[in-house]
Amino acid sequence: MSWFIKKRQQKTAVEARTVRVPEGLWIKCDACRELIYRAELVNTRNVCPKCGYHFRIGVEERLASLLDPGWTVLFSHLRSVDPLGFVAAKSYAEQLRKLVESGQTEEAVVVVEGRLEGREVVLAAMNWDFLAASMGSVVGEKLRLGAERALEKACPYLIVSCSGGARMQEGTLSLMQMAKVSAALAKLDRAGIPYLSILTDPTTGGVSASYAMLGDLNIAEPKALIGFAGPRVIEQTIKQTLPDGFQRSEFLQAHGMVDKVVTRTELRRFLALTLAWMAGEGAPAAE
Ligand SMILES: [Zn+2]
Repeated sequence: MSWFIKKRQQKTAVEARTVRVPEGLWIKCDACRELIYRAELVNTRNVCPKCGYHFRIGVEERLASLLDPGWTVLFSHLRSVDPLGFVAAKSYAEQLRKLVESGQTEEAVVVVEGRLEGREVVLAAMNWDFLAASMGSVVGEKLRLGAERALEKACPYLIVSCSGGARMQEGTLSLMQMAKVSAALAKLDRAGIPYLSILTDPTTGGVSASYAMLGDLNIAEPKALIGFAGPRVIEQTIKQTLPDGFQRSEFLQAHGMVDKVVTRTELRRFLALTLAWMAGEGAPAAE
């Protein structure tokens, strides 16, 4: 009875599409397949010099690319717990324990205070290496505390997002973080303090459905995957084929969901100019 035989569908894991720069002297670009000299990537902040493909970067590199040297890490004492005793393919408690043992002492988000071209900011960068930067209770709490700190100091708040979505291992507690962080951001809004959201590849699920889209400006890196549900689920639901480039930064900018696509090499300058303009100090950010 073929009715009962489940067709195996090919899985395209998000991880597979976002490969970190591999080791070696020469690297083949994931997009244009050209060979790139590794040392060259250091100067371009891991952007392919031939086609502009943005390799995924870690939190430290992200912070270094945006901030002046000498930032302070905040709220790093917070640790995830396993409130549901969750066990599916893997035990959540075990996953957490292994991450800590491997030296991953930070959570799926790192919050710091520092300076961006001299201006005080609070900045949060999501950490893909920690359970695909999924949004659990600690992520939500650190982001909320970051917003409170920005409010206290009356300085801009920036969140650099990437995420596989809500952390299902924490059940509904993970979904509650969407409302909690959004409420904290609303406080910044009422106080007239800028909040800039920077979306990087990939920003999906509950993160894209909450704080990542709530920036006074939503800025995205080129060709980043940004969306709530995956394209296959959407195609099956609406019974239509999706257009090319659907759920990529440029498509979202064309449709008003993202304000500006900015390359990684220009991002720091763009943010500095934007914040100066928002503070009424200078000319609007250049095109
Ligand atoms: Zn390339």
